[in-house]
Amino acid sequence: MERAVAAYDPDNIFARILRDEIPSDRVYEDDEFVAFRDIAPSAPTHVLVIPRGEAPTGPQAFTTEDEAMLGRMTVTATRIARELGLEEGGYRLVLNNGADAGQTVFHVHMHILGGAPLGPVASTA
Ligand code: 5GP
Repeated sequence: MERAVAAYDPDNIFARILRDEIPSDRVYEDDEFVAFRDIAPSAPTHVLVIPRGEAPTGPQAFTTEDEAMLGRMTVTATRIARELGLEEGGYRLVLNNGADAGQTVFHVHMHILGGAPLGPVASTA
């Protein structure tokens, strides 16, 4: 199914991280996903999980063809959270979409946030 949204930019920051053109502090990688620490962490532990290759730009670009990948990305994020020791205290998985959510990078990514009480899910303050 065609994605009726802005085209994928192969030079977005995460594509460049995948190509090792920009360094990253990787905590996990496999054939399909790479996870690395966020450069501007919003929690004591803040990791981003991204699929390799040309990915959906974000949630609004998802199609039924992405369902299996998104399921694997979510399960992979929970495994990484466990390996990072976040399970006992708890953690949050976040996908941002568009301006109101503050999305800045248009290569889908799942935030793993934890390491301290995180407060409300969203704030407009
Ligand atoms: P978004 O707001 O689009 O959901 O999340 C993008 C995230 O990427 C932000 O939390 C931001 O700090 C992070 N980020 C942006 N540029 C870089 C970078 O060059 N390296 C790393 N590790 N994270 C980045």
